[in-house]
Amino acid sequence: MTKIILSPKISKRIEQGHPWVYDNEVAEIPKELQQGEIVEVFNHKNKFVGKGYANPRSHILVRLLVSHPKEEINRNLFKKRIEQALKYRQLLGYQDSFRLVFGEADFLPALVIDKFNDYFSIQTLAYGIDQFKTEIVEVLEEIFSKNQQNFGVYERNDVPVRELEGMQQQTGFLSKPFEPQTIITENGFKMRIDIANGQKTGYFLDQTANRAAIAPFMKNATVLDCFSHTGSFAIHAAGYGAKKVSAVDISEFASQTATENAKLNGLENKIECITANAFDLLKEWTNENRQFDVVILDPPAFTKSRSNVENALRGYKEINLRGMKLVKKGGFLVTCSCSHFIKPDIFKKVIFDAAIDARKVIREVLYKPQGNDHPFLWNVEETLYLKFYILQVL
Ligand code: SAH
Repeated sequence: MTKIILSPKISKRIEQGHPWVYDNEVAEIPKELQQGEIVEVFNHKNKFVGKGYANPRSHILVRLLVSHPKEEINRNLFKKRIEQALKYRQLLGYQDSFRLVFGEADFLPALVIDKFNDYFSIQTLAYGIDQFKTEIVEVLEEIFSKNQQNFGVYERNDVPVRELEGMQQQTGFLSKPFEPQTIITENGFKMRIDIANGQKTGYFLDQTANRAAIAPFMKNATVLDCFSHTGSFAIHAAGYGAKKVSAVDISEFASQTATENAKLNGLENKIECITANAFDLLKEWTNENRQFDVVILDPPAFTKSRSNVENALRGYKEINLRGMKLVKKGGFLVTCSCSHFIKPDIFKKVIFDAAIDARKVIREVLYKPQGNDHPFLWNVEETLYLKFYILQVL
């Protein structure tokens, strides 16, 4: 098996369990290294550190899966890890729809599996894990098909990071074809999920608990839900008692699904779905001095790289400043960031700067990370990505 030696300053992070070895962190990259090859990694003192899949075409040269020399990387390992991931979610009370595997945090680097009722939406975002797709589908069938009426797997590998790994973007059924639309229940509300056409894996399960957390502020409220996608915050808001909700998304498809979801829950009279650029609308409505009891901001990751953080921060500041101005005195701002490049303290600072510029006093009501089905490891900081605040604007 090919041996990779870490450079001295890197060993500690990796030995503490961080699974990524970058190409500039090794003494030498063996010339004959193949894409997807399983390699052994040693520290600079020649002590075994772990085994994982390599990809000489990626900046992340190796993703480690095991830390014991006898442990094999094969179908059994994937089965064991997926079963452990399921057991953890079951312990926490998740039932039909949840993130089953969250990559590194479930010790399955670059693998994402979301479960929507009887169907699975999966992403294999590194060359190494992509080689095990067939085995992973088999394992899912083994674990789940006996307790479900239906079973199906769809790959949502339409993700640009795959190109950094030397792979193509692709989507399609990995099992027998099935109807990719299904209605899940979230906090008692119905949501139509389109596994084939919705964003990312089809739906953002990471905010399930956070959506429930807005309930206390919704009675008779007027609400603006920006970056609404399929309307899930808007539906929760209306269902929890808001009298009027405006849901804004730039995607026509998302707005249409939000309209359908509102009907599905009998809330169509309370929710208006607007297809618009939220930046423009926030500007327009602040200029018109509109006021809401609650403003929700759940934008996409404004940056997917370290180099773009400054631009992203300008974006966060602008929407938060305008969002706060649109909140009535004593009302609430619900604000989120889903990029792991924006660390929690930086996000907090940008909101604080916006409050100072908007001449508002902010009282923190609640801070939460992503839901428990998207666990994060303290030694792998990239696994913590979602920041969610409920703030009172005074
Ligand atoms: N709040 C949603 C998730 C939001 S994801 C939920 O709980 O499910 C981010 C959304 O922002 C996407 O639906 C995307 O279409 C939308 N979006 C991206 N840029 C936008 C813009 N400039 N204005 C409005 N919506 C935008």
